[in-house]
Amino acid sequence: MEVSNLNARIIAIGDELLCGRTLETNSNFIQRQLLKYGIDVERVTVVHDNKSDIMSALDEAGQQLIFVTGGLGPTPDDMTVDVVAEWAGVPIVIDQTVEADLKKRCADRGFEYHFGMAKQAKLPQGMKALKNPVGSAPGQVGKFGGATVVLLPGVPAEMHGLWPLVEAELELSGSNSKSFRLRTVGLSEPKLSDMTESVRDKYLDLVWSWWLSKWGVDVQASGPDPAVLDSAEKILRTELGDSVFASGETELSQTVGEMLLESGKTVAVAESCTAGMVGAALTDSPGSSAYFTGGVISYSNEIKTQELAVPEQLFIDHGAVSYEVAKSMAINCRDKFGTDYAISVTGISGPDGGTAEKPVGTTWIAVAAAGSCTVKRFRFIAHRARSRELTVAAALNLLRLQM
Ligand code: AMP
Ligand code: MG
Repeated sequence: MEVSNLNARIIAIGDELLCGRTLETNSNFIQRQLLKYGIDVERVTVVHDNKSDIMSALDEAGQQLIFVTGGLGPTPDDMTVDVVAEWAGVPIVIDQTVEADLKKRCADRGFEYHFGMAKQAKLPQGMKALKNPVGSAPGQVGKFGGATVVLLPGVPAEMHGLWPLVEAELELSGSNSKSFRLRTVGLSEPKLSDMTESVRDKYLDLVWSWWLSKWGVDVQASGPDPAVLDSAEKILRTELGDSVFASGETELSQTVGEMLLESGKTVAVAESCTAGMVGAALTDSPGSSAYFTGGVISYSNEIKTQELAVPEQLFIDHGAVSYEVAKSMAINCRDKFGTDYAISVTGISGPDGGTAEKPVGTTWIAVAAAGSCTVKRFRFIAHRARSRELTVAAALNLLRLQM
């Protein structure tokens, strides 16, 4: 089923999405997937579990690639299949394979084959069922005139689980990508904008955008010609150097995890102001036990001394947020855990606690390795949550640059 020339529309259905109860995330997931294939999402419409609203959203989407999420379940408010059939002008049919599957599912669990369950075997005629690997309601794909319609369950895990089948059915592949995205860490938006200027001047036909991420700033370029995109990406990578930690969707925590896995090295953490967030980021990926051993949350000076043997005199002479304390935390943490690396963090997240000499946002981060310790001062000028997020990014990055 060829769809690469179409633009996409997403219709998210559910009362819970319009009263602040459930954050609508399904469209975000679909957008991220489609980005890989160069399919533009023109519009996202969020509607109530209501026939006329769903109908108008479908009418408005017209002859496009239409993703509809939600309303495939067993409860009376789930009406997507009926409404799509009416919109397409086709009757409802029962899919025998899905029905057999649902019956078996019930039997295996000792449930009665309830009419709500039976409802999930209904398809608008002409649509194909895609077996749901996570839940009961199948996904559905079909063509009606110029429109390609994909129905997906609302439960995010079920939608994610079904996505590979959607990809296969629509024959989506990465080769149509009309953009590239480089992910940077340690650069501000104006700085990144300056650093991309010469490349942008050279490739005036590309559309450039900048996005804040939890690690730093991403830069994306879009355009119709893959060869042009390729050469722009190469030049941009050279301009940006080691500020680029990944491309596409890869997170900094994944990059660092993969580097640790490949080198067979281990890491531990000694965290003050981030209180475990660096450790949490290092264990984002499955398999992290191969390189992450543990850490100490040493929020107070007492714990820094008790658990990490930071000499009390350092607090008196330099304060807890200092080069000396960060260094001592990292080196002693590495000794304590017997790892190849240890990361330490000590900073003032605010909003209180700043002084003229050490304003809010002042943070020292250290990475201890065999025979060396890199210690760096940062000043994060943001509110507490963002400062802590940037601290995690800087800590992971300092380790990345050290490896
Ligand atoms: P449904 O398939 O419509 O029965 O949806 C089942 C559940 O999935 C809802 O109660 C929500 O918790 C969740 N859900 C549905 N649609 C979305 C969406 N667009 N984004 C995030 N969660 C959703
Ligand atoms: Mg619903």
